[in-house]
Amino acid sequence: NRVSIAIDGPAGAGKSTVARLVAERLGYIYIDTGAMYRAVTLQALMDKININDETALTRVAVDVDIALRVNEKGHTRVYLNSLDVSKEIRSPEVSRHVSLVSRVPGVRKRMTQLQREMAARCSVVMEGRDIGTHVLPDADMKFFLTASVEERARRRHAELQERGYTLSFAEIVEDIKQRDNIDASRAVAPLKPAPDAEIIDCSIMTVEQVVNLIVTRVSG
Ligand code: C5P
Repeated sequence: NRVSIAIDGPAGAGKSTVARLVAERLGYIYIDTGAMYRAVTLQALMDKININDETALTRVAVDVDIALRVNEKGHTRVYLNSLDVSKEIRSPEVSRHVSLVSRVPGVRKRMTQLQREMAARCSVVMEGRDIGTHVLPDADMKFFLTASVEERARRRHAELQERGYTLSFAEIVEDIKQRDNIDASRAVAPLKPAPDAEIIDCSIMTVEQVVNLIVTRVSG
């Protein structure tokens, strides 16, 4: 029996870390859907596609070959046409453009299709913005992780530094606010909690506490 767990929420709420650890604990496959939108965005930027050209962006999403693979350390690597782009998709340039690419209906349609195919094959912890509302409305469990903007910016700041990108705290706050705005106001599958999702405020909890809470709910 395949199980699917949906974890949604705004940028920097700690979804990736939590989702990866929950998947590890349960022996499920972790799927980072944001990485897929980032890979499409990276390809569009490399192809110098006009960010307002919905037809061209949709074509990129349909043609692109995206693969998520788990390496020996248990980390997800993202491949674009067989090239490992795990670092490139986190670049500030991709972050600045990804929400504009993600609001294109044709792009979303293709990513949603790929994500549903993945969930049909194995038990998954799928993390994103619209998993509980749109991609997997029948998920067995749904969680929506939130945190204050400051807390989320602090996390992103540390994450980016680890990856070797130097952005100021203020720039990150700006990026997060802008992305949340675009993600929450787009026409197709906007960022919002599913009515049946449990909302977890991560600003007042440690990663371990959040992971334990979710694992308890799923196994309970
Ligand atoms: O999760 P992450 O911050 O890497 O996601 C990058 C962007 O991808 C989000 O800001 C959003 O625009 C888009 N996204 C989306 N739907 C998802 C996952 C990500 O629109 N399910």
